[in-house]
Amino acid sequence: MQLVCLDLEGVLVPEIWIEFAERTGIPELRRTTRDEPDYDKLMRYRLDILAERKLGLPDIQDVITGMGPMAGAREFLDGLRQQFQVIILSDTFYEFAMPLMKPLGMPTLFCHKLEADARGILVNYHLRMPNQKKEAVQRFKELNFKVIAAGDSYNDTAMLGEAHAGILFHPPQNVIDEFPQFPVTKSYAELKAEILKASARI
Ligand SMILES: [Mg+2]
Repeated sequence: MQLVCLDLEGVLVPEIWIEFAERTGIPELRRTTRDEPDYDKLMRYRLDILAERKLGLPDIQDVITGMGPMAGAREFLDGLRQQFQVIILSDTFYEFAMPLMKPLGMPTLFCHKLEADARGILVNYHLRMPNQKKEAVQRFKELNFKVIAAGDSYNDTAMLGEAHAGILFHPPQNVIDEFPQFPVTKSYAELKAEILKASARI
């Protein structure tokens, strides 16, 4: 039995924080782990900015609903789900991702959780576990699944390496250079073709 694990942001939907920063005109929210490698510091900084601006979860979700998935993502996912069990492994949060899951046909999503107070202001975040993408793939292998994984960036490379086949989709050049072992795809048609190729091989 084969399983396809997909990253979410940059593969099926836009980068949520970056797109959110654009849409709300809050450039400070463009900060990523590339600028601040300490993830906890980065998350506290983001939550503080949202609280200062009095942006609660319903406001945030309205903005995210407006983003929608990437063009062609739904069709790609529907097609893939005809042939494979598909699980989305993401480092985002359910509260952010759910508005984007409905237009994607409610695929299975494993990610993290946010905590809001009674006014809807985000006060904390909870990671289910560290390195959950890689850990999940490892567990699926223990359940005797053959795993094909695809993602676009650094935080996917451990998952790609753990899978029986790893594929990059629209990666930045530094990831291509650093991980030449993974095939690079630039469209859903190419990604689908690479998944089918891997499926025949593993
Ligand atoms: Mg990504």
